[in-house]
Amino acid sequence: MLVDSHCHCHEFKDEELAEFRGIGLVAVSDDLQSSKRTLALKAIGVYPCLGIHPWQVGKAKPEELAEVLRMIEKEEVPCIGEVGLDKRFVPETYEKQREFFSAFLRLAKEYGLVLNVHAPDAWRDVVEALRKADVDRALIHWYTGPLDLLEEIGALGYYVSVNPAVKIQQKHRAVAEAVRRDLVVAESDGPYEYRGMRLTPAMIGETIGLLAEVWKEPRDVVEERLYTNAARLFRL
Ligand SMILES: [Zn+2]
Repeated sequence: MLVDSHCHCHEFKDEELAEFRGIGLVAVSDDLQSSKRTLALKAIGVYPCLGIHPWQVGKAKPEELAEVLRMIEKEEVPCIGEVGLDKRFVPETYEKQREFFSAFLRLAKEYGLVLNVHAPDAWRDVVEALRKADVDRALIHWYTGPLDLLEEIGALGYYVSVNPAVKIQQKHRAVAEAVRRDLVVAESDGPYEYRGMRLTPAMIGETIGLLAEVWKEPRDVVEERLYTNAARLFRL
């Protein structure tokens, strides 16, 4: 069983989603509108994560945050995401990002929810915020942060995900080599364009093959392990 632990299902048309049948889809949201669509996609079996993406925080109104928080509570959503902090692409909204992320962390702690987290160039701040909030389960997606921070992430029991970009992104490949194999899952972040690659859940199989090469292990062993890891993280 293949699992895409971080994809934006709300951006795909129904016909496209049908092509990913057989792959477990952990669906993150970007804002209030997409959170509603993600919730509706529960009907076709996606695992819903609701939240406001750091890139959308700048234009989000306080009432939108309140509504997403309310939906998570009322609909008993198992996962919060995509949420987090981003100093690389949107440093100008960092203070507001911190406020929004704190609100999601409080809710995660209160209800024991898992977080699907975005953290470009805010890696240490995110790990510190997760630790302080004392949340039990979190995925730091498409990790390209400092290798020495992986040790602390592992000690806290948090997971990182490996993206198909591992094929060409050197920094990410180094992460794949160094990561704790019991705390890693696969993701596509699809639909997304990365240096000529069109990332979609259909690339999860290829990503597992790449990890098998990096780790010098049989492919079926890697596939089984990544499934076990995802099942443990998301309580599938
Ligand atoms: Zn994403």
